[in-house]
Amino acid sequence: MDTPKLAQKPTTITFIGAGNMARSLIVGLLQDQANVVLRVADPDEHQLDAIRKHWPEVTTTTDNLEAMQGADLVVLAVKPQIMRNVTENLASHAQLSRPLFVSIAAGIREEALNRWLGGNQAIVRCMPNTPALVQAGATGLYANQHVSDSQRSAAESLLRAVGITVWFDDETKLDAVTAISGSGPAYFFLVMEAMQAAAEQLGLRPEEAHLLIVQTALGAAKLALESDDLPGELRQKVTSKGGTTEAALNVLTTGGLHDLFAQALQAAASRSRELA
Ligand code: NAD
Repeated sequence: MDTPKLAQKPTTITFIGAGNMARSLIVGLLQDQANVVLRVADPDEHQLDAIRKHWPEVTTTTDNLEAMQGADLVVLAVKPQIMRNVTENLASHAQLSRPLFVSIAAGIREEALNRWLGGNQAIVRCMPNTPALVQAGATGLYANQHVSDSQRSAAESLLRAVGITVWFDDETKLDAVTAISGSGPAYFFLVMEAMQAAAEQLGLRPEEAHLLIVQTALGAAKLALESDDLPGELRQKVTSKGGTTEAALNVLTTGGLHDLFAQALQAAASRSRELA
């Protein structure tokens, strides 16, 4: 006879802040059918109404401390400017209950979060990006020394619900992650905008150009993800000697595209260091 398995206790996840990023994580977790109990705290009733309307199973409150009672994982999903105030108000409770804190705020160091939360807290800092809103995000994560293996898995499951994750042992690498994947969607949008303007100059109607460009970007990304070839190899495979692709790539490389990207990413990484 099979021994009945004990159902695993659900993980209670509290979101402090019910904005865009919190909502995308909630959608991801619910679509994943994760074994979780979800709670959200936000002083703005309109934000809570939006949650209640779409996901009645999520508990909502305007009281951050109430939402934190008994939570295994607390997602800090407020704007960086108010993070100090919010975390200092959670500190007395954090010292007693010791949940895992997952901060998605750009540029706030683990050392500062830990200090504001009263010290010795398990903290995972992560840098997600906006495609998380459509469950196609890319997130860099860093865990401090107080985070256990099971807490690490819980943080990873949370962010995996909205895309792929990459762990880093060195927190300073999150500045590079900010420059690459955090700000990265904007670089691809800029390329799409430039291609759109050029396509219209070549005589395409805006909607025709838009559809062809966006699908080409999606197709190139899908091919790069699914192929065993590196992007450079894929590029060579579509570039015939003396052909149309070569003509275009020559203009881009002699125009200094590699150097421009090196400078752009350096600028973003150094701005990320300045803001922290
Ligand atoms: P948002 O403005 O949509 O949401 C922030 C929420 O915090 C709002 O609903 C606001 O009412 C709420 N709030 C304000 N004061 C509060 C308080 N005292 N207690 C609890 N909640 C409070 O912002 P967002 O885009 O969801 O960003 C949230 C965090 O995610 C930011 O720190 C941002 O740096 C980070 N982030 C965002 C993105 C992105 O693409 N949007 C990407 C990476 C990281």
